[in-house]
Formats: sequence, C-alpha cells, structure tokens
Amino acid sequence: MKVIALTGIRKMGEMEQNRPSISNSNDVLIEVKSIGVCGSDMHYYKEGNIGDQVVQFPFVVGHEFSGVIACTGVNVSNLKEGDRVAVDPNIYCGECDQCKSGRPHTCRNQRFMGCPGQMEGCNKPFVVMPAKNCFVLPENMSFDDGMLIEPLSIGVYAAKQAGDVKGLDIAIWGYGPIGMCVHESLKMNGVKSVMVSDNLEWRCAIAKKHGAELVVNASENDAQFHFLKHRPEQVDIAFECCGNQEALNEALHCIKPGGKLVIVGIPDFDSWLMSADILRRREITVVNIRRQNQCEETAIDALSSGKIDLSDMITHRAPLCDAGKIYEMVADYKDGVMKAVLYP
Ligand SMILES: [Zn+2]
Ligand SMILES: [Zn+2]
Repeated sequence: MKVIALTGIRKMGEMEQNRPSISNSNDVLIEVKSIGVCGSDMHYYKEGNIGDQVVQFPFVVGHEFSGVIACTGVNVSNLKEGDRVAVDPNIYCGECDQCKSGRPHTCRNQRFMGCPGQMEGCNKPFVVMPAKNCFVLPENMSFDDGMLIEPLSIGVYAAKQAGDVKGLDIAIWGYGPIGMCVHESLKMNGVKSVMVSDNLEWRCAIAKKHGAELVVNASENDAQFHFLKHRPEQVDIAFECCGNQEALNEALHCIKPGGKLVIVGIPDFDSWLMSADILRRREITVVNIRRQNQCEETAIDALSSGKIDLSDMITHRAPLCDAGKIYEMVADYKDGVMKAVLYP
C-alpha cells in the first residue's frame, strides 16, 4: 500500500509499505477513511520535533482518523467487520501505575500514533490498533465527524479539567481547531461568557459565529487591553490554546485572583516564562493539559446529539496523495484553513 511520509523538514513523499496484519488477538485492522491534519503534525513537519521527540526521516505522522473495521483479532468481541469507528491514537499498557490510577494518557509505556520513537501515524490506507482504542460511531455521524472525535475529546477534557465552569467568565487565546473545541465544550458545560483572541481574521469570524461575547483579532488589536476594558473584574479562567509566550503573558494579566490558567497549546520552545508575582499574589492555579483522558464517549455523544457544533471546523478536503500541498498550506495558515482532511 502507498503511505505518505515526512522525508525531511517541510518535505513529504509517497512510500510503499506492506499492508499491516493482525498479530495480537486483541487488535483490529482498520481501513482508514478520514484523516485530520493536526497542529502537532505541523511541529514535526516544520521543526522535525516536539521537545525531545525528534523525527528520524522517513516517518509517517498523523493521529486523527476514523475508519472501518476490516478484520478483527480472534479475541475481539466488541467490534465486527464493517463497524465504523473513531480511534484513540494512544496505545497504553494497562499495567503501569498511571494506567492503574486511571491515567492511560500518561501511560509509562505508551505508544502514540505518529509520535517519533513510539509508532507510525495514520497517513496510510490501513492501520492495526487494539480493539479497546476503537469507539463505534452512531449512524448519524460521518467519517469526518469520527475523525473530529480526537481533537474534540481534547477540548472536552480541557474544559473538564478546568472544573465547574457554570456561570463563569472565560477567555481563550488561540482559536484553531483545539481552541474551537474548548469553546464548544465550555458552552456545553454552561459557561456564562467567552472572549476569544486569535491572529487570523477568519478564525475570529468563526469564534463570533459560535457565540463568543468579544473577539479580538490580535494581529491588529491588543487583546489584553480590550479584554480588560470589556471585563474590568477579569476572567475566572484563561485557556492558552496557541502555545505562544505573549498569549500566556496576556492571559495571566486577565485572570482574576483565585482564577485558573489552563495551558492547552504546544509551544515550539522549551520553557514558559511566567510572572511569579502575578501567580503568587493572585493565587492563580495553573492546569496543564496532556491530550485527553477517556473523553471519547462524551465527545461522540456531544457531537451526535448536536450539543456541540463543529460544522465550521473542516475547511479543506483532499486525497492523501496531496498531503504535501495540504501540509504546506496548513503550515503557513493559508487559504482560511481551520481543519484540513485527507482521504486515503
Ligand atoms: Zn491532534
Ligand atoms: Zn500504562
């Protein structure tokens, strides 16, 4: 089968691989139907690493996908051929202290799809995964909806980790796919108001359309100034969803005493700088988000029931063989891109 691999910094190429086959009795073979291009794929594409996870080329990335069960291992009872599934890209051991304490997302022995040194990604026509990583999609959900369950479950998880948000005022820095998923999840959880800052006009427009009370295009205006002017008493919780130092500084200035900073974005540098003075005087709680933890079912229910609306998420669709062009477009935030989807 033909797979699409990173072959260098900002380079992609087609490679021939054998179709994978099931070797573990609890695994399933999945025919990949819809693949999302993620911001974290972009770090590997543009920089060749995220922190100490460094790509050895060639390497297949990608971790957001849905598909159809093509074959099941002999011990698989919860899935059958033809089932349409969303897939958790995190293979966890189930045995370590983290797994046993309900934290498979920080499993000590984890292999995450498309992560250098762990396992290859889903930019290919077939993958093998443990059956326990698959979630059957309801009839009314498309393969694209199924693909969106991975990023949406991160939004659901980030909102959950922020605690009870009912009646609270919130601000979000960064309205890419994850910022949007966080916003929708907060709305579902009964938040009072949300302010959004993003550098891209079209993303600001989507935030407005989805009910943000105030949206600031940070490429033209000072988000901190306008947020504080609009809400002088500051916000209860700030979400950093862009991995940007300046955004984090602004967020800290906008959080009220006793409030929370939730860090979701992945920076392309090693260390955040945070004002010890603000953190201490205002007793700000910093919450870090590592992907998501068992939020797929909530995400599936929210999307299929219409409690969450991601209809403006997918902006581009292309065959997998055009991945090079699509990655280049996403890397440069061109052409009004929010989420691009590839089809094997
Ligand atoms: Zn992702
Ligand atoms: Zn484990």
